[in-house]
Amino acid sequence: MASGSERFRGIDGGHEMDERRAMLCPYCGTSSLRHDRCETCTGFFDPLSRQATQNHMGPWYIRDIEHPFRPGCSYAVMRAMALRGKLGLSTVVRGPTTRQFWELARRAPGIAHVLGVCHACGATASADQPVCVSCGAGFEVEADRQYLGLGEVRELPSLPRTEQSRKESK
Ligand SMILES: [Zn+2]
Ligand SMILES: [Zn+2]
Repeated sequence: MASGSERFRGIDGGHEMDERRAMLCPYCGTSSLRHDRCETCTGFFDPLSRQATQNHMGPWYIRDIEHPFRPGCSYAVMRAMALRGKLGLSTVVRGPTTRQFWELARRAPGIAHVLGVCHACGATASADQPVCVSCGAGFEVEADRQYLGLGEVRELPSLPRTEQSRKESK
């Protein structure tokens, strides 16, 4: 059983909580001396702020080295960010339509057309189009924010021993 001090410990090579700092930020996981807001990500800790963040959470992620521990967001948030110019064609994203694999925004179904291009053929598209007029690819996205979009688990072919250990060590 984990003792009190072990409870906050991450994996090997990760960061432990500094327990002289009383608050663990629910948004970025950094420990903070302040009790009202996070010293690192500046998020507020009060219940309404937590609820606001919870409302925006979802299965979409933007690769952002400056905020690597930010929670995922809903499609509505991604779409709004794309429309506000916060996402570009080369922004690296993942979500239900990419099966959670990282992908360029211009190739991510449901995101690319909001940025003005078809994810499949690259033709000009617009945010309110349901399908590509050029290739017929669909732009609609599963709106359920609990839906990760993962593919089914399939058995892998057995590999020679060396190949296998290389894969496992990744
Ligand atoms: Zn924080
Ligand atoms: Zn197309």
